[in-house]
Amino acid sequence: MASYDYDLFVIGAGSGGVRAARVSAAHGARVAIAEEHKVGGTCVIRGCVPKKLLVYGAQFAEDLKDAKRFGWQLPEQCAFDWPTLRDNVLAEVERLNGAYTDTLESHDVEIFHERATVEGPHAVKLASGKTVTAEYILIATGAWPYMPDFPGVEHAVTSNEVFHLESMPRRVLICGAGYIANEFAGIFHEFSCQVTLINRSDVILRHYDHAIRDRLLQISMTKGIDFRFHAEFEKIEKNDDGSLHVEMSGHTPMDVDLVLIAVGRVPHTSGLGLENAGVELDDKGAVVVDEYSKSSCDSIYAVGDVTDRVQLTPVAIREGQAFADTVFNDNPTTVDYDCIPSAVFSHPPMAGVGMTEGDARNKLGSIKVYQSDFRAMKNVLAERNERALYKMICDAETGCIVGLHMIGPDAPEILQAAAVAVKAKLTKADFDNVVALHPTMAEELVLLR
Ligand SMILES: Cc1cc2nc3c(=O)[nH]c(=O)nc-3n(C[C@H](O)[C@H](O)[C@H](O)COP(=O)(O)OP(=O)(O)OC[C@H]3O[C@@H](n4cnc5c(N)ncnc54)[C@H](O)[C@@H]3O)c2cc1C
Repeated sequence: MASYDYDLFVIGAGSGGVRAARVSAAHGARVAIAEEHKVGGTCVIRGCVPKKLLVYGAQFAEDLKDAKRFGWQLPEQCAFDWPTLRDNVLAEVERLNGAYTDTLESHDVEIFHERATVEGPHAVKLASGKTVTAEYILIATGAWPYMPDFPGVEHAVTSNEVFHLESMPRRVLICGAGYIANEFAGIFHEFSCQVTLINRSDVILRHYDHAIRDRLLQISMTKGIDFRFHAEFEKIEKNDDGSLHVEMSGHTPMDVDLVLIAVGRVPHTSGLGLENAGVELDDKGAVVVDEYSKSSCDSIYAVGDVTDRVQLTPVAIREGQAFADTVFNDNPTTVDYDCIPSAVFSHPPMAGVGMTEGDARNKLGSIKVYQSDFRAMKNVLAERNERALYKMICDAETGCIVGLHMIGPDAPEILQAAAVAVKAKLTKADFDNVVALHPTMAEELVLLR
């Protein structure tokens, strides 16, 4: 029998890679992991975590404005200091980087702080020149922001750089219509920047329920975020004062201080050497895997964003766990992709699980839609004219809830709990049977009409 340096070599210490490495080691495997940037990956270093902390920081803008209606006396203009927030967020990211490193080390996972590429079905080449062997290789290299090709694109930043800005820009142009673009539109707007969001179509957040995303669009426009649809970059030029001159199709040119491009993320496989092991990639460069995350090469598996299944942290973690249980605990495990809740941490946030109304109509034909369109009590007293919207979509025949979608304060927090009921295939009647918890926003879920 061939002997290898390790039982498992993981490339990429992000959400999926760290979970797979730690659990495989706990199952008794000899594990090593390579990370070319920082242990923790996108979620911890330049994704979910720092973003959510900025969302919290941004929310103070509204809370401070509203505080006056609740009797608090504050200066007319509260000053916001970006370097303080940025540095505190980055310090928290460093702390988490340390915590993830400790977790791996305490499970005896050997960490190589360098880039690794695949040299063969059982061989990994490290940037330092060393080749190591492993019975299994796990590709967990995540995804990378897609950058369109046009003159001056080098003046734009992506979500990778946005957490490190020297100063808060006065005018920001964001390109994209997905959750990252909309979240940063909200964050920069709350920090008093003039925000323009451009997109090549006129639909934002196309995977979300149309009524919910329309509500976000309406609230965002009322707040003063400028949306320019059917617009594509023609060029970006740097002005003498350091600002950026942006030309785009179908709209007048504009000068801004920051251009953020958030038009999707591509699987991180380029230059990874996967061809050396005959690993099949799809047309987007994602590793093609089976239900156990095994690639076309028997000794190579892949989990997380690099497989382009569902690009979310909890999904990458589940795939990492399932891989470890399958390969090192003799317990073949697949991931259930049905009813995965997701959220957009916009201002206000939105969240959803299951089918949208459109999907349900197409798939089931006969459906019943219940909704509540209301102003949160806090917004009423604050004289904030923003309405929340909750939608429940049921199969007309069985009464089973097939989708739940909401926008309003704390929507993601409420939806996580409600998603359990949707996943458990409860019915509208089950919700109606529950006495409301008053006064909350969540009580609207058991009072839907
Ligand atoms: C701005 C932003 C906000 C997000 N917000 C959310 C959110 O709110 N909720 C949510 O669920 N998801 C969110 N995501 C998505 C989430 O971060 C990803 O789905 C998740 O991190 C994927 O985990 P992964 O293990 O597949 O890859 P990653 O976490 O990206 O880890 C891959 C790691 O591999 C390393 N690597 C790559 N190539 C090599 C190589 N050759 N050698 C060594 N190391 C290598 C990378 O440096 C990286 O650390 C967000 C993403 C972004 C960008």
